[in-house]
Amino acid sequence: MYELKRAGENTWYMRAPTNTGFYLYQAPEVCMIDAGGDRESAEKALEHIRAQGWRLTTLFLTHSHADHTGGAAYLREQTGCEVYAPGISAAAVKHSFLISTTLYGGSASAEMCNKFLLPPPCECGELSEEVLPAGVEFARLDGHDMAQAAFRTADGVWFTADCVISAEALRKHRISFLYDIGQHLQALDRLSGLEGSLFIPAHDEPCSDINPLVEVNRTAVMEVASDIREMCAQPATVDEVIEMSLKKFGIRLYLMQYLLVGETVRSYLSWLLDRGEVRTVFSGTRLLWERAGE
Ligand SMILES: [Zn+2]
Repeated sequence: MYELKRAGENTWYMRAPTNTGFYLYQAPEVCMIDAGGDRESAEKALEHIRAQGWRLTTLFLTHSHADHTGGAAYLREQTGCEVYAPGISAAAVKHSFLISTTLYGGSASAEMCNKFLLPPPCECGELSEEVLPAGVEFARLDGHDMAQAAFRTADGVWFTADCVISAEALRKHRISFLYDIGQHLQALDRLSGLEGSLFIPAHDEPCSDINPLVEVNRTAVMEVASDIREMCAQPATVDEVIEMSLKKFGIRLYLMQYLLVGETVRSYLSWLLDRGEVRTVFSGTRLLWERAGE
């Protein structure tokens, strides 16, 4: 854990709970991709940077989630590096309370503001072509988060963020966190069309061909969508669908998990509603979701 591994002539990654990338674009200047989930991870990254004699100039965040951004404020404080994230994720890095507020759908309690949901806020600019070092490019892969980007170094190494999760994690949990199902399916198409020599998902081992993992993820999304639609065979409230999902997918229940599954289930219901596969009906003052489009 936390060892530095070479992925290309000038590209390295640190294998950690959230993999982080390093690209030496003009020695000794290096940029990083993702900050890790906490100060410990950021400290390990800095140890590597110092041991290699590098200088961190820029930190690129793939998206706003705490396991990718938790170390950002510390890295910026220690090195003065610039920090960039794609689209609206830049605002969520800067005003990180938005993450737990969005998840809960209201002002979040102290328990909802733990380090797994609410990273320390960090000054952050919006990612654009102009701020990329020579040789680095990005591709937007929104859907898992409101805005998400994958980054490619000149060595042909892609850091693919959370667009795909490991086959093992999918076997275990079946449902993975998603914000927008339609965008996510488009992102999977885009990811499968990217050319590169190595693909490094944020929570999995690198692979030279990302397509098998893309297919496993796409299948999982379609299966979960079908399951959620079936849960509405009898009209059900959102909370009842969440309850059925937690049971069906065998998810150990605690508040954070309830919030993550809750946002994901709501997102699936919105997508199914837009596709005409469920409809909403009122029963008294209760809003119910019902299977449609037979
Ligand atoms: Zn994420």
